[in-house]
Amino acid sequence: MSALRHQSARPPAAATARVVLVNPYELGRQPFALAEPAAWLRRAGFEVACIDLSRQRLEPEKLAGAALVGVYLGMHTATRIAVEALPKLRALAPHAHLAAYGLYAPMNATLLHTLGVATVFGGESEPDLLALAEALRDGRVPPAGGVRLDKIDFLVPDRSGLPPLERYAALVLPDGSTQVAGFTEGSRGCKHRCRHCPVVPVYDGRFRIVPIPVVIEDIRRQVAAGAAHISFGDPDFFNGPTHARRLVETLHREFPTLTYDVTVKIEHLVHHAELIPVLRETGCRFVTSAVESVDDRVLERLAKGHTAADFARAVALLRAAGVALAPTFVPFTPWTGLEGYVELLERLVELELVESVPPVQLSIRLLVPEGSRLLDLQDFRKRLGPFDPALLGYPWRHEDPRVDALQQQVQDLAADAEARALGRHAAFAAIRELAYTALGRTAPALPPGPIGTPAAHLSEAWYCCAEPTREQLQSF
Ligand code: SF4
Repeated sequence: MSALRHQSARPPAAATARVVLVNPYELGRQPFALAEPAAWLRRAGFEVACIDLSRQRLEPEKLAGAALVGVYLGMHTATRIAVEALPKLRALAPHAHLAAYGLYAPMNATLLHTLGVATVFGGESEPDLLALAEALRDGRVPPAGGVRLDKIDFLVPDRSGLPPLERYAALVLPDGSTQVAGFTEGSRGCKHRCRHCPVVPVYDGRFRIVPIPVVIEDIRRQVAAGAAHISFGDPDFFNGPTHARRLVETLHREFPTLTYDVTVKIEHLVHHAELIPVLRETGCRFVTSAVESVDDRVLERLAKGHTAADFARAVALLRAAGVALAPTFVPFTPWTGLEGYVELLERLVELELVESVPPVQLSIRLLVPEGSRLLDLQDFRKRLGPFDPALLGYPWRHEDPRVDALQQQVQDLAADAEARALGRHAAFAAIRELAYTALGRTAPALPPGPIGTPAAHLSEAWYCCAEPTREQLQSF
């Protein structure tokens, strides 16, 4: 394990063995990454409280007397929220040892230390959180933080103490009705090394399987708690195709009416096309896939491992099998001009995917966090400003200022569309107007009705690096 910080001072033994785990945000899903360490800690006799800031306020009584507060930083938005929350956590638990874990913790370790976080973990962190809690309880020197990629013995996540599933993102069916959704993970990490991906600085091409009996028991408990749909949070569900097949077949045998969704990269959808009908037959409602761009030069720079033609092929394969696609994008990059942005929008019209793309996806700007493989691109690196702690990344500007202005307009429009629950066709049309106007052209007329088939989706959109909203920053 690579050390991120070593505590040399020997602390006094903690008066209690109380641990508080905090989740700033995880796309409205009930977090596996709190439930799994909670299981490890409770098995060892610790009293564990969980606080999900996306659903709960910071309650002083939950934090009072905590010996350890562990903050889970699984995504950029969560980290931005945590930066606001950490001073409040410190004030409410002045004697607690603050730790951070999750993908975004190691890459932001320097900043987190300035905010009072003493120990930072990454990767398979449960043994380290447990060792830290035990050291604090026993008055021993806390272990150093670091990134662990060893295989660990997963326990069934312990979700007691988290808000009920009904309070989390729901599955929204095409007719507008909703179903309770659960959330689990069949693997962590990823065997690929896409340049812009936050998984890579931590897992560096490795992934870890969660044993099928553990996943199934976790799902069993969530079904008992009311879940009719399960969202799998694996960075890529087909990293281990044999595991994936066994998992969904086992799931479907026990829960034939349960539906689920997964995330699979375009390259895997094309290369493991034989698995797509298996997804359909076992209850998969939709597949999220990080398409990112329809420009092969941009895809090459991101080292995505697929082409624009592969994207079209994956759309056709999923459609033929009757599985919906939820594509995600990074439309604003230093290598995408206004023409390229309009090309993306028109491609969504041609492929009849407008109903499959929430407006936030059309506003995402390439993020360059600390440790990103994008920093290996020397010509790009020269264009970056110094690391910006407010942004949690290296800022860049497009050589055409109209692109940066458009990105801001689209971001504002997407937030407004979300707040007003504007339909996807209307939001898309408004964004397209903005893009054509920026180009100094008139947008050709769009077909009037839905462009594509409205598909089931979760009520909180998937993304990895959007700006947190004011509500998210102030809700706790
Ligand atoms: S973008 Fe997806 S496929 Fe690429 S490294 Fe990240 S998780 Fe893996």
